[in-house]
Amino acid sequence: MTRFKSSVLAIAIAILLSGCNSSITNSTPESTLHTTVVEIETTTEDNPIEETTADTDRLTDKEKVDLSLNPNEAGRVMVLMYHSIGETDSAWEITPDSFRADLEYMYTNGYRPISLSKYVKGQIDTPAGYTPIILTFDDANQNNFNLIEENGELLIDPDSALGIMQEFNKKYEDFNVTASFYIYGTNAFRQQQYVEYKLQYLVDNGFDVGNHTYGHARLIESTTSEEVQYQIGMLVAYVNGILPDYEMNTFVIPYGQRPKGDLNDYLVSGEYNGVSYDHIAVLEVGSHPTYSVFDARFDYTSIPRIRASNTEEHQESADWFEYFEKNPHLRFVSDGFENVVTVPQDMLELIDTDDLGDKSLLVY
Ligand SMILES: [Zn+2]
Repeated sequence: MTRFKSSVLAIAIAILLSGCNSSITNSTPESTLHTTVVEIETTTEDNPIEETTADTDRLTDKEKVDLSLNPNEAGRVMVLMYHSIGETDSAWEITPDSFRADLEYMYTNGYRPISLSKYVKGQIDTPAGYTPIILTFDDANQNNFNLIEENGELLIDPDSALGIMQEFNKKYEDFNVTASFYIYGTNAFRQQQYVEYKLQYLVDNGFDVGNHTYGHARLIESTTSEEVQYQIGMLVAYVNGILPDYEMNTFVIPYGQRPKGDLNDYLVSGEYNGVSYDHIAVLEVGSHPTYSVFDARFDYTSIPRIRASNTEEHQESADWFEYFEKNPHLRFVSDGFENVVTVPQDMLELIDTDDLGDKSLLVY
């Protein structure tokens, strides 16, 4: 399975959100006509300034792409895997300062976070010339999202992952912070009295909450499809009770260990006790950048991640950042338009041109 996860609904929402002009994805007669109608409504004949504006509007998004920024939407994307933020740098933990340094590196080197959901739907809203990057946190440790009570007020711990990201966003407003938090059990982030508040807070503030099974299960040991569906469906039912309007549809395989054989299918979709799930992304543990979502090889049922830690033994994220410094042409660079897919001529063969939906392709 190599298609990227798109749906008519997702496309419809993208059009609604991005406004009228953005829905014009190519220069078919219909869309040209549409453009003209809009211009007649918004311009007056005897005003030269407004005519200039109309000329700009007449350009399709495809024509507006700035090729001097070397856009490459066939390039590779990094999905970073974090676990704990804590006192030491180890395989599964990094210090607050190491995490701040990671964000600083991303900011100064042209990376901008994008939500995993948007990425897998091909809704790349990353500004032109920048590289999307996806941040994930597994296990919902307290140090990911810690609340501190101070003088009767609740504060987000500035040394927790969420606090660090929000502080960073205040410093650099053009660095949108977003991340996916993979939870399990009924005590996400380990402050039982605040579980519901925290989950609601995350989705209200543009973060994703993802499924990491009900019991952080070793699915490799599952022997029936019911066991796999129980582990995933139970957590969906639990989260539905707290966030009735939120669809938790991305999944991280605990320990990165898949169940055997055909049971794998139930990582993608299934049903338990009348609660169904249909994942748009299934994430692995390790170990290299993912293909562009527009690459024919992209497989949303098995998305690799890169461990983000800062020890001598584990410097995978630093190694890959360095790799892209040396090989900038292999890195995904956004054209700035969700409805246009821009690729250099020599990368065109990677693209599944039959699977771009109503996006238009720009080759240069
Ligand atoms: Zn885990």
